[in-house]
Amino acid sequence: MSKIIASAAIRGAHKITKQAQEILTRAIKEKGEDCRVEFPNTGYFIPIIYSMTGRAVEKLADFKEVMDEINGLLSPPVDDDLWVPYLGQALDAGMATLFAEEIIEACKYLIGPNPVNDIWLGAADDVILRERGIQFVDGTAPGFAAIAGAAPDVETAVNIARKLQERCLYVFMSAHNNSTTFAEQLFEGGVQLGWETRLVPFGREITSAIYSLGFASRAALSFGGVQPGDFKRNLLYNKNRIFAFVLALGEVTDEWYATAAGAINYGFPTIADSDIPEILPTGVCTYEHVVSQIPHNQIVEKAIEVRGLKIKITEIPIPVSVSPAFEGERIRKEDMQCEFGGQRTPAFEWLRMRDISEVEDGNVEVIGPDIDSVEAGGKLPLGIIAEVAGRKMQDDFEPVLERQIHTFINEAQGIWHMGQRDINWVRISKDAAKAGFMLEHIGKLLHAKYHDEYSNIVDKVQVKIYTDEKQVVKLREQAQAIFAERDARLAGMQDEDVETFYSCTLCQSFAPNHVCVVSPERPGLCGAYSWLDCRAAYEITPSGPNQPISKGNMIEPTVGQWDKINAFVLKASGNNIERMSQYSMIVDPMTSCGCFECIAAVLPSTGGIMIVNREFTEMTPCGMKFSTLAGTVGGGQQTPGFIGHSKHYINSKKFIAAEGGIQRIAWMPTMLKEEIMDTFIKRADEVGLGGKDFLDKIADETTATTEEEVLEFITKNNHPVTALEPMF
Ligand code: SF4
Ligand code: ZN
Repeated sequence: MSKIIASAAIRGAHKITKQAQEILTRAIKEKGEDCRVEFPNTGYFIPIIYSMTGRAVEKLADFKEVMDEINGLLSPPVDDDLWVPYLGQALDAGMATLFAEEIIEACKYLIGPNPVNDIWLGAADDVILRERGIQFVDGTAPGFAAIAGAAPDVETAVNIARKLQERCLYVFMSAHNNSTTFAEQLFEGGVQLGWETRLVPFGREITSAIYSLGFASRAALSFGGVQPGDFKRNLLYNKNRIFAFVLALGEVTDEWYATAAGAINYGFPTIADSDIPEILPTGVCTYEHVVSQIPHNQIVEKAIEVRGLKIKITEIPIPVSVSPAFEGERIRKEDMQCEFGGQRTPAFEWLRMRDISEVEDGNVEVIGPDIDSVEAGGKLPLGIIAEVAGRKMQDDFEPVLERQIHTFINEAQGIWHMGQRDINWVRISKDAAKAGFMLEHIGKLLHAKYHDEYSNIVDKVQVKIYTDEKQVVKLREQAQAIFAERDARLAGMQDEDVETFYSCTLCQSFAPNHVCVVSPERPGLCGAYSWLDCRAAYEITPSGPNQPISKGNMIEPTVGQWDKINAFVLKASGNNIERMSQYSMIVDPMTSCGCFECIAAVLPSTGGIMIVNREFTEMTPCGMKFSTLAGTVGGGQQTPGFIGHSKHYINSKKFIAAEGGIQRIAWMPTMLKEEIMDTFIKRADEVGLGGKDFLDKIADETTATTEEEVLEFITKNNHPVTALEPMF
């Protein structure tokens, strides 16, 4: 590190520390040592201090110990011409500066001037943190630009802000230069400020920069599962996941240097328009630490380059583009070159772990005819076997990685994917085929994506793709045996045995309000995510779509509602779903996305329900085919009387337990009966319904195709539901 910067940072740190001491003394004098000190509406105390040291500051007196800590971090002030030998001193001074700045801002909330005034917003509360922070996690916002100072004029400020907005970055503003601020310049330029526009004015002083860094620290605690006090992981989380940088506009004072040094700890570099000494060698930051004298019309591009922000144009060797932007794309029949599975042809996808010696990384084999062998609009069987190896790989992770096949394939332009396991369905568009897309490209895509996103557990990937019908059917049996084994691992575990359920929000890409709450006795409705899978997924990606939810207090035992689960669902559904029952299809039922294996629907006149599985494509007694029903129920809505669910859930003790469980089932297709038969009979025996007898009392498409016929059938056969109260 340049000695000049280091000495300036240390000098700045001393100045800010002095200010902190002064305002703290004043605050204690006016309010007393025991006066509560806090930022509004947060559970993270004074967040940088809390996240870095684990200290939960609650009253002014607690700041005294923090002051001791700050003084411990500070090296004595140095003159410009004295050599400062290593980066560490400046980094420590930077951290001390941030602590001191938090003290200053927190005291201002008590004795003024209030940080919230005029256009200035001060600290973001936890509601904003959840709402906005999640965007840093799910990639809607790659990070933020912390702007210090002001541009030379309004027009330049507006231009810079627009460019940052175009990159989906948040703009956090603090400090002034030449007696104006970037925020005021935007305001003058008629630009709308606020969290909604991602242009957030924190404060006029450089000390308000801690609201940006405090936000980043809290994001790591909240979304990254980092523990308070674990400063290393917190800083690393930020370096690796939050693409943030400081834009220093105007004269860089010692205080700015000191704050910038604080930001460097997080891996956030500083890009300046003025002539300040650069710190180019990389170390803590991804690339350079400080880059200076960048013209205003290039400063955004430069910042993005220096911070290493990847606007994901991943170079995957396939002839179509790959981006999350294509995930929601649909391919209509007319635009389709070829399709696979979806009950039209046998298909499956299966990821398995192999020994490291059994996998040749990057190897892709296509066994059987390729898409150029079929006419446009044609179909082929499809078996995808991805084989992965890695030192940290565990077989618990298999289902989690397997489920990614869905996302990865969907990200390719002109390729569409639905379902998983043995109910997958893939379409390749004519345009993709014209561009040269062949089946081997599915393998190349999977290979690249697994390396890209799971490099922490996956070292080698090879992919085999089968299209020969006989082979697909044979291999599918093998895969199905494994799927059954995976399901069996969970058998015996009960919801009451665990304190924690897991969320799955993977389907929010197309059903934005949808949250699956996954418990041991209720898997995700796609059937691909059991409680064990979610636990593994959380282990692999702590900030991913599967988050642990501690149940909290049971508030509705019959329908299965817990206070903390409800609170979680409310937030995760974007404030759309207030209450959600784990065990009821009538009272606050779980939302349904679109990938449920089955749909259960009330048949009012029978007092019971029908269940239809995705594979059954004929008419059902409720007057709708599966596809129409799916359209009605899906999309992330709560529809009392209807739920999407997995096949496995039917045999769970908690299957619509609030409504009386399996004795409500009045109709199921024969194919579904056969599929779940073994366990179903045991289950029916357990609850005294008489095993196979009960199964035979349930109507199917051979005995009833309308609701009247179902009623007739179950009455004649003395189905137990006829003795029950109506469901509504
Ligand atoms: Fe996750 Fe539920 Fe979607 Fe399955 S259906 S991927 S469990 S959100
Ligand atoms: Zn779904």
